[in-house]
Amino acid sequence: MTIETIQLGLVGWPLGHSLSPAIHTAALKAAGLKGNYRLFPYPPGSEGASRIDHLLECLRQGELKGLNVTIPYKRSALAWVDELTPLAASLGSVNTLFLKDGRLVGDNTDGPGFLADLIHPQRGPSLISGPMYGKTALILGAGGAARSAAAVLVRLGMTVLVAARNFEQALDIAESVQIKPEGGFERGSITPLTMDSESLHGLSPVLIVNATPLGMVPEVNASPWLSELPYPSGAVLYDMVYNPPETAFIRAGRASGLSAAGGLGMLVEQAALSFEIWTGQPAPRFEMYAAATLSLPILSTSENSSRKEVS
Ligand code: NAP
Repeated sequence: MTIETIQLGLVGWPLGHSLSPAIHTAALKAAGLKGNYRLFPYPPGSEGASRIDHLLECLRQGELKGLNVTIPYKRSALAWVDELTPLAASLGSVNTLFLKDGRLVGDNTDGPGFLADLIHPQRGPSLISGPMYGKTALILGAGGAARSAAAVLVRLGMTVLVAARNFEQALDIAESVQIKPEGGFERGSITPLTMDSESLHGLSPVLIVNATPLGMVPEVNASPWLSELPYPSGAVLYDMVYNPPETAFIRAGRASGLSAAGGLGMLVEQAALSFEIWTGQPAPRFEMYAAATLSLPILSTSENSSRKEVS
């Protein structure tokens, strides 16, 4: 009997400091599966496009079991597939590709990964208690990660405020994400805001999410929270930045007595959900989280650490 070798990978550009190979290699090993997870750092342009076409063909032929997609291809990957999951369609963004019944499917595990880490984190007890329905969440930033978080929080019935320095970006999320792919509206609501003290003053969210790169190495003293405003009392802080593990945003929040977490768990959870799609097996989250944690110090001293974090 031959044992299947599970070939997985990540396409994006640049990919120099990705933690995904370490996380998925640990997952394959802990699950007793033979396989590997390779990086495909393909630059945008015609050369990259023909290499991506080849990767997609490998997926269709079953030579590649699964592929993650990251910056700058999360949006263009919409056109690579035969089918989108409802979440990927409503986000307009794909991070996971797989073959199902001979059809290439695009899914997005970023939002569910964020939610899973918020509610059932590997790192310890949940920061969130009780139902989220009707409560207010404030998301700082309005890029792809903010869109993913807004999509899952609005589905819980939360009142989601998206604050961006470019109001139009936040408006775009509010207009597109709260409409269900099948028609009608989600249970909660999304309101766009400008990220300034006038708009953020006096808000009392139960959850504040940093979905900007502010605070990431090497700019570790930067924070998305406006220094002239106090943190809302009782709010939980979630920073999608995971390097450093304790950002200035988290540190200041904890100093004000708030509960806070960084984004490493989200990174692991989105990987775990992709792993489960590809293998049909429960992801060994403990080992995946351990691998991510162990790889992080290497990342923070690497010459690539000033670049944007990717999956
Ligand atoms: P993105 O699409 O580039 O969006 C970044 C957002 O942050 C944009 O709205 C951008 O506004 C805003 N921003 C950037 N610099 C700012 C500043 N100085 N002041 C105010 N707003 C600023 O990036 P993304 O993919 O959403 O990622 C956002 C962050 O989340 C990154 O740090 C990324 O590494 C992290 N992330 C983590 C995970 C995880 O698994 N933990 C997953 C995804 C993303 P402009 O357009 O005006 O620049």
